[in-house]
Amino acid sequence: METADVIVIGSGQGGIPLAADFANDGRKVVLFERDALGGSCINYGCTPSKAFLAAAHAAGRARLGKKLGIHTQVEVDFPAVMERVRGIRNSFNQGIRKRLETAGVKVICAEASFVGERTVKGGDVTFQAPLVIINTGTSALIPDIPGLAGTPYLTNRNFFDLNTLPARLLVIGGGYIGLELGQGLARLGSQTHLIVRGDRVLDREEADVSKVLAEALKQDSIGLHFGVNVNHVAHESNVFSLTLSSGEQLQGEALLVVTGRKPNTSRLNAAASKIELDDRGFIKIDQQFHTTCSGVYAIGDAAKQPAFTHVSWEDYRRLKAIIVWRKPDTERSRPWLCGLHRTPGWTSGYDVRTGSQTRYQRACCHITHEPNCACDRVGA
Ligand SMILES: Cc1cc2nc3c(=O)[nH]c(=O)nc-3n(C[C@H](O)[C@H](O)[C@H](O)COP(=O)(O)OP(=O)(O)OC[C@H]3O[C@@H](n4cnc5c(N)ncnc54)[C@H](O)[C@@H]3O)c2cc1C
Repeated sequence: METADVIVIGSGQGGIPLAADFANDGRKVVLFERDALGGSCINYGCTPSKAFLAAAHAAGRARLGKKLGIHTQVEVDFPAVMERVRGIRNSFNQGIRKRLETAGVKVICAEASFVGERTVKGGDVTFQAPLVIINTGTSALIPDIPGLAGTPYLTNRNFFDLNTLPARLLVIGGGYIGLELGQGLARLGSQTHLIVRGDRVLDREEADVSKVLAEALKQDSIGLHFGVNVNHVAHESNVFSLTLSSGEQLQGEALLVVTGRKPNTSRLNAAASKIELDDRGFIKIDQQFHTTCSGVYAIGDAAKQPAFTHVSWEDYRRLKAIIVWRKPDTERSRPWLCGLHRTPGWTSGYDVRTGSQTRYQRACCHITHEPNCACDRVGA
């Protein structure tokens, strides 16, 4: 067994700068990564999804041009769209590798698990350190639908490897990942259906937001199926067939499953280092990111922080202040932009006044293609 000053497990948005900063300060840092450097955000999350959406929005806007008297023939070169997305992802990924190498971080490309207190094994090496930081993120939660296992369904993990535009796309899930990837493919030309268990999309947002988005999705000719479950999945001759609880049957060449996220902790063997998990597998931390094991901290999505890139990065900033400058924090990271829902229960204890914000709709109209969008009226 070898020793180090710091062990980082997972190269998420907070783990990378922490590893680089500690190494730049002269500490011996070991980072374990089981997949691509940069985590979800860079490889199969924010970066590729927004690069993909840029192409989808361009196609969508071009089609809308006829309302302004601009007639265009939209031809989508899907392999080129996806090649560009992967190119951006790869360049970001290479940048991270370079940053870690330059800082002198020892990167071990292997899945890590605890074999004792502050002792981590990955591949054929084992390291012990007084300081261990877990930044292992989340991955797609796959529902137990009869027939689904073993079929070539898509998740955010393999979506960006697509090379052929599916003629018909079926999306299970009405959260933000399903919406952005589903709407993106719809705008690029896939006939898309969204299957949602609840009665609206994005059910953690205000009902008004769901309504505006549902209208936008309909304008992109996306079929919306609310209040239904998928009872069965079949895959034959490269076509998926879904049987819905309503009795309806839907078919498509591609199936995207986006039904939630689960923490990447099941193979971490956290108990070997006396690290407690909650009943959903998230790592329990206190206000200072400390787990139940002395010297072991957890940040980002796996620690049940709000699942945003900037939150994981903010965790890095705060944890560094706590460890290096011994500056205790009073509150864990929060997104930069917060809001209260008007939903009953969310507002208790607050004096809340409400009003509608039409400017919000104007700001969003580029994305939603609002029918009465001011931009279309004034040509902005
Ligand atoms: C499609 C999609 C779009 C998104 N879009 C946005 C957006 O626009 N804006 C935004 O703010 N957020 C977005 N997010 C969320 C964002 O990607 C995450 O919140 C962010 O990446 C923070 O994650 P993290 O730092 O906790 O860990 P991650 O980035 O998930 O990284 C964790 C890393 O740990 C590695 N790992 C896991 N277990 C082990 C182990 N045992 N050993 C070694 N390595 C391990 C994983 O391979 C991974 O590389 C999006 C997510 C998805 C899926």
